[in-house]
Amino acid sequence: MSTTTALPATPKSPPLEKQTTVGNYFVSNYPPFSFWKPELVGELSAALERPPQPGNPLGIYLHIPFCRKRCHFCYFKVYTDKDSAAIRNYIEATLKEFAIYAAKPAIRGRKPNFIYFGGGTPSYLSVDQLRHLTDGMKALLPWDEAEEVAFEAEPGTLTDHKLKAIRDLGVTRLSLGVENFDDHILEINGRAHHSKEIARAYGYARQLDFPQINIDLIAGMVEETEANWRECVRKTIEMAPDSVTIYEMEIPYNTTIYKQMKAEGKLVAPVADWETKRSWVNYAFRELEKASYTISSAYTAIKNPQRTKFIYRDRLWAGADLLSLGVASFGHIGGTHYQNHHEFDPYVSRVQQGELPVYRALTPTADERLIREFILQLKLGHVSRAYFQQKFGPDPAERFAAPLRTLTDWGFLTIESDTIRLNRDGLLQVDRLLHEFFLPQHHNARYA
Ligand code: SF4
Repeated sequence: MSTTTALPATPKSPPLEKQTTVGNYFVSNYPPFSFWKPELVGELSAALERPPQPGNPLGIYLHIPFCRKRCHFCYFKVYTDKDSAAIRNYIEATLKEFAIYAAKPAIRGRKPNFIYFGGGTPSYLSVDQLRHLTDGMKALLPWDEAEEVAFEAEPGTLTDHKLKAIRDLGVTRLSLGVENFDDHILEINGRAHHSKEIARAYGYARQLDFPQINIDLIAGMVEETEANWRECVRKTIEMAPDSVTIYEMEIPYNTTIYKQMKAEGKLVAPVADWETKRSWVNYAFRELEKASYTISSAYTAIKNPQRTKFIYRDRLWAGADLLSLGVASFGHIGGTHYQNHHEFDPYVSRVQQGELPVYRALTPTADERLIREFILQLKLGHVSRAYFQQKFGPDPAERFAAPLRTLTDWGFLTIESDTIRLNRDGLLQVDRLLHEFFLPQHHNARYA
């Protein structure tokens, strides 16, 4: 009797995924958020009492949860009804939260390498609010060694005066949330801005000489057509931004679109299917390449890679510490993941009481840290085996032999001496392929 067991054969192609149904597609971290637990918050407290790992960069993320309107596809924690007193309280809370961290051994005296203002809409804040916030942050941890200060902006909130103030704060990358250039599509998707505001904000930002202006697009908004998408790509290239980021429309559970689908008993979202969205991103990448852009990740094209970097992305995907401030934000310090309270009032009141507003945490094992970095870096389209061997020990070609074989059999991946490389087809659907590298207990986990 034979004692060998035949390995199950790899399916010839990945599981069929056609229509856009509800759920998170984008993989932004590992292990999945549903494994982070309130009872593990003590692990963050312990990590904060330890000195930092020598040489590991520190970044700061600050979440500004205010928007003029809630976009129908939005799944972020945002508020459209807060008055100036509530906003003032929030800013004071984030500064107080920052001050608690800045006194801890893991953070004290460190110079942030990168700073990211995300949201929400950071540009929703007034000039005075922005100055107060950033002066307070710089007083706690000076920015003089920061390689990048990134700032997300909604075009309709940008007056000339505010843009000038944002430039003066030291912002190096202004990321314009354009999403689409067509007023009807912007309107029907619940965006607050109009196409005219895009041209105006972009023109003035150019005059102010920001080191990097990024245009953000979404492929597959409600009612988008192929012709519309091609026109968006044409207009983007005509504007010649330093970089372009493109995301494929997904419909997570907490979006207005899903709520409407549920009310109407629909399982399929009223947006293009995945194959179509992928073909639109592929078209955009090809057009951008013709215009001399370089594709630097599954979502990013860069005009001049020598000059323009994505420090936040690259450091985070290489395991940097991220001190995250603000309601619902996600951070990673000294090897522990954490997330803040996801509701406004508990967040503010915890900080006002002098406590860290952390809601849940998880310390990944060494193997989970390896998986996290590997899958995040695979989004760049190529991964160095030597980097992982040096940092973690195992050769990823051996540690991930089974999923790498699967992706190779599906025609998405090659291993070329030191480099594990995804081809364009693989890169365009990388998020769904990353699940192949997950530990069995994390398969089918919800990213919420
Ligand atoms: S602007 Fe961004 S954060 Fe605000 S509602 Fe729209 S998608 Fe959400």
